[in-house]
Amino acid sequence: MSLGFTTTIPVEVILAAGLRPVDINNIFITAPDAYQRVSAAEDEGWPRTVCAWIKGIYTTLQLQPGIQPVIVVTQGDCSNTHALMELLEAEGRPLIPFQFPYPRNRRLLQAQIEQLMGTLGTDWPAVNHIWQCLAPLRAGLADLDRLTWETGQVTGLENFQFLIASSDFNGQPEIFAQELQSFLRIARSRPHRREGVRLGLIGIPPIFGDLFDYLEELGAMVVFNEIPRQFSMPYSCRDLVEQYLRYTYPYDIFARIADIADAAVQRRLDGLIHYTQSFCFRQIQDRLLRQCLDLPIVTIEGDRPVNLDHRTRLRLEAFVDVLRR
Ligand code: SF4
Repeated sequence: MSLGFTTTIPVEVILAAGLRPVDINNIFITAPDAYQRVSAAEDEGWPRTVCAWIKGIYTTLQLQPGIQPVIVVTQGDCSNTHALMELLEAEGRPLIPFQFPYPRNRRLLQAQIEQLMGTLGTDWPAVNHIWQCLAPLRAGLADLDRLTWETGQVTGLENFQFLIASSDFNGQPEIFAQELQSFLRIARSRPHRREGVRLGLIGIPPIFGDLFDYLEELGAMVVFNEIPRQFSMPYSCRDLVEQYLRYTYPYDIFARIADIADAAVQRRLDGLIHYTQSFCFRQIQDRLLRQCLDLPIVTIEGDRPVNLDHRTRLRLEAFVDVLRR
């Protein structure tokens, strides 16, 4: 049985319960008709002024009624998700709410994880077993990330694709692990690549289809994908609760800023692209990121799943040009 979710949650609990995890964001954005899915939600009455990710998730769930129940994160994601949950509930879809405590709190997070375990009918021994089984896979993802910034043997796009998929391991961690190992074997045999402007991509995952290709065209390398890296749970932790406490995305911005600042030094970043989504509250955080990070930043905004518009291409070209000089 497939269990869907709308943002990264402790996937180990789902796997321990013998269920197949499905990150609905990934299904939506990789669908050939992703654009039409957003329009379809608007045809059903969704406002134009609502984030396209939420509309895409909604239509994707309509198209795939077999994905149920759905875990909806009601704290640590956004209020749009909360309203989405109410709509789905009214339509009769079984839902499981999950909350990341704000501020970070180990006891409250553990209680949420245990509540989810109780709902799905699993327990700590099973969850810890999965956590340990996933450790080599997560170490492989960390290695892939290192090959991106240290040797340039993995491109920014390849890095993004693997790390973003680690929210649900494409539903099948064993197959994902095999694909990762095959890819790493190929990547390690590639020549090192050191030239090019070194960029970090921060903010929520971009909805544009050709951002990485265009940056490569400009001679820039994305060597830090902030949020996808967070999905891979890159820290070495004592236990599962600590792993999801250190995960920066659902809590305050300040841990994210510290993480980006560390990456900027370690990965020798020349500049940052801050991707923002139209109608998303996280746009407000742009000001803090600029205040706290001592690095050139260009902020770009996307709305629907399309390729880069002309104006954004020009702005990126000018930014890379200035950094190169
Ligand atoms: S992009 Fe922003 S508004 Fe849209 S789902 Fe993500 S957090 Fe919510």
